[in-house]
Amino acid sequence: MSEIIKRQNSQIIGMTLAELENLSEESNQSRFRGRQLFNSVYKQKIDSFENIKTLPIIFRDKLLDKYTLHPLSLIKKTGSNTELTQKYLFKLSTGEKIESVLMYEDKRVTLCVSTQVGCAVDCKFCATAKMGFIKNLTAGEIIDQYLMISNSIDKKITNIVFMGMGEPFLNYQQVINAAILFNDKDGINLSSKRITISTVGIIPKIKRYSEEGHKFKLAISLNGSYQSQRLEIMPISKTHSIDDLIKTVWYHYKKTKKLVTFEYVLLSNVNDSILDANRLIDLIGDLPCKVNVIPYNEIEGPFKRPSVQRINEFVNQINNSKFIVTVRWSKGTDINSGCGQLAVLES
Ligand code: SF4
Repeated sequence: MSEIIKRQNSQIIGMTLAELENLSEESNQSRFRGRQLFNSVYKQKIDSFENIKTLPIIFRDKLLDKYTLHPLSLIKKTGSNTELTQKYLFKLSTGEKIESVLMYEDKRVTLCVSTQVGCAVDCKFCATAKMGFIKNLTAGEIIDQYLMISNSIDKKITNIVFMGMGEPFLNYQQVINAAILFNDKDGINLSSKRITISTVGIIPKIKRYSEEGHKFKLAISLNGSYQSQRLEIMPISKTHSIDDLIKTVWYHYKKTKKLVTFEYVLLSNVNDSILDANRLIDLIGDLPCKVNVIPYNEIEGPFKRPSVQRINEFVNQINNSKFIVTVRWSKGTDINSGCGQLAVLES
């Protein structure tokens, strides 16, 4: 066990500029070498110590001896035959497996990253929930999903969504650290407008996020138009009720003047009626926000995707509201990489 902790602490990917500068100093190098290392790893995406030619050989040898670069190894890539979507399976240095999904849409290339192995939240429509919670990912394990995939494709990844396995706000600090590293202009340099953190609505963490003044986009999985309905499909509503959630999003708006996006997974005969659409309009009221309707991607279990006609009727109804409405027809459902479909059930 202590060997595993040592290995995780000695992984370079996930370290900040200040940490790499300190590491350089401890290795009898100038702090500037830490900046070169930061630049090589995150900006140039050089994938081995041997290839970081800007560093002196003696420092590279020391890095090789004491540190590992990548916390992940790629096990498998599954490409959809019908859509421009790829699913990647990674192994952690501690042996667990996680998945990431890459989606191409016009000029946009979006990577959906995992933040935990499994998930404790137990949303009834979600494949990841069936794994239970296994462990939190480190910032390095989150970032490395991006770096390893970036190095294997021709196009540039333009957007990151924290929407894969796990509830990001139950791994708050590592997720924020990863988002800051994605955004760092001397490193990966993705605009904060292209980084979205998606949560089921962990209220104290939404407040903390608002107070800390982060600029990343926030999405909230709503999926219900009233408390008892949401509670049935999202047991987390017992602790974080739908009314408290709306109040907290108001707090977020007043504090940051930024709009959240409510994600609404449309489940046949559960939350897809015209009555639900009207309740949703009332629930949101004047709150400035966007609503993204996601027709459900079926997995094993009781839930079904509504018919196209029913989806259109629901969307038309909520179009008569003050908020902005979009519909996301998830990509890659044939390889189980749509929203709510990620799970690593094999050992
Ligand atoms: S939808 Fe998200 S929060 Fe809910 S169980 Fe699945 S991974 Fe966890």
